[in-house]
Amino acid sequence: MEKAHGASPRRPADALGMAPEEMRRLGHLVVDLVVDHFETRADGPAIQQSTPEELRAVLGGPVPRVPGDADAAIRTLVGTALANMQHGDHPRYFARVPGPSSFAAVLGEWLATGHNAIATSWGGGSGPTTVELVVIDWLRELLGMPDGTEGILVSGGSLANLTAFAAARAELGDGVVYLTDQTHSSIPRGLRALGFPPDRVRVLRSDGGLRMPVGELAAAVAADRAAGRRPVMVVATAGTTNTGAVDPLPEIADLCRAEGMWFHVDGAYGAPAALSAAGAAALVGIERADSLVIDPHKWLFQPYDVGCVLVRRPGALERAFSIDAEYLRDTSAAGGEVNLRDRSLELSRRSRALKLWLTFTVHGVEGIRSAIARGIALAEFAEGRLRADPMWEVVTPARLGVVTFALIHGADGTHAARAAALATSGYAAVTSTTVRGRSVLRLCTINPATTEDDIVRTLDRLAAP
Ligand SMILES: *Cc1c(COP(=O)(O)O)cnc(C)c1O
Repeated sequence: MEKAHGASPRRPADALGMAPEEMRRLGHLVVDLVVDHFETRADGPAIQQSTPEELRAVLGGPVPRVPGDADAAIRTLVGTALANMQHGDHPRYFARVPGPSSFAAVLGEWLATGHNAIATSWGGGSGPTTVELVVIDWLRELLGMPDGTEGILVSGGSLANLTAFAAARAELGDGVVYLTDQTHSSIPRGLRALGFPPDRVRVLRSDGGLRMPVGELAAAVAADRAAGRRPVMVVATAGTTNTGAVDPLPEIADLCRAEGMWFHVDGAYGAPAALSAAGAAALVGIERADSLVIDPHKWLFQPYDVGCVLVRRPGALERAFSIDAEYLRDTSAAGGEVNLRDRSLELSRRSRALKLWLTFTVHGVEGIRSAIARGIALAEFAEGRLRADPMWEVVTPARLGVVTFALIHGADGTHAARAAALATSGYAAVTSTTVRGRSVLRLCTINPATTEDDIVRTLDRLAAP
């Protein structure tokens, strides 16, 4: 636990080394550029795109053969590579799912990267492993899952869902899986990649509220049993990406218990809302999941990437993923020591937990809770404005930070054209999507830096392009 060897003489320079003064100078330049970004991003475009030719003219070229100018290179990355993207942290980026990452989280990410933190085995990373176990337990507690629930951080919701499905199959074996037409598109892909045959994946038509119809689910399960098939898992969504709809979690949990099925909840988008009072009311039943996915790089204010899967049954992740190779054996774990390599497909893996740990420690649950509550309230504010304006019709009400709406007299293609014009102007970014085949516009308002004025002006520009 101590630095045992005393002060060492200055080490000779290696081929990729830099003098400490130079590291500090460039490091401070990077910090300044990032803080400049935080301070001024609201004045820049919400989204920006250039042509392949324009981008390659600046970023391309032959392999650099000789050492170059680090200052110029850093400025090129900021000015061109990092300028041309969706600025998910811009207060008027309302498209897809914004990424309003907090500065505390950025600091945690930098620390982990600067130390090349690894969270693969206890022997090779007991510190980062402990941070990850602690953070997973905080998330577990905040989401109301029982003590003993285990988890792992992966790259995002897609891989977190896939990891849960592999654990479910290792526990329950093969069988039929149930989802709806509102389930995230990454989920059928994950099931396909794991080898679930397409004819064992039932996609139910969602009800009028875009939720899973429990009566039809029960009927489908009964029909599959009658035909000699084995129902094994229901994939519920706690906050759909398109409209924020929450499937009837308690009823699905009851059915899963009665039928011996695995109850998976995809809360990649919506689960963080459980930290706020309004969100918790909408998400009752989420705590009954056998496996639950939450995506901290969406609504827990983390930079990409970090997704989390929680699995209620102790040991299920290890039973699905443990590896036992000779060259790994010397770092085998005992009593309380966890080898995170045994909980997903990743072996060498960076510490995604430090940024979350630092965010929770710096802001506390209270700070995070109020940031989430603000996102929920902003969508409700937008809904109120839309309802007060005879031009607009609200198609799905504000739910977990998402509202969709349509022009009452809009011709086909109008919504997409207006969203595209707004994005091209750089002022704001919104999504044009469909709800039950109907064209709509959609705002996702989870950035706590967004003001009501940002929403009013964005709606004004959509109304009068
Ligand atoms: C975003 C999302 C996913 C996929 O998560 P990634 O982090 O993009 O891989 C899965 N499910 C839902 C509901 C989502 O919103």
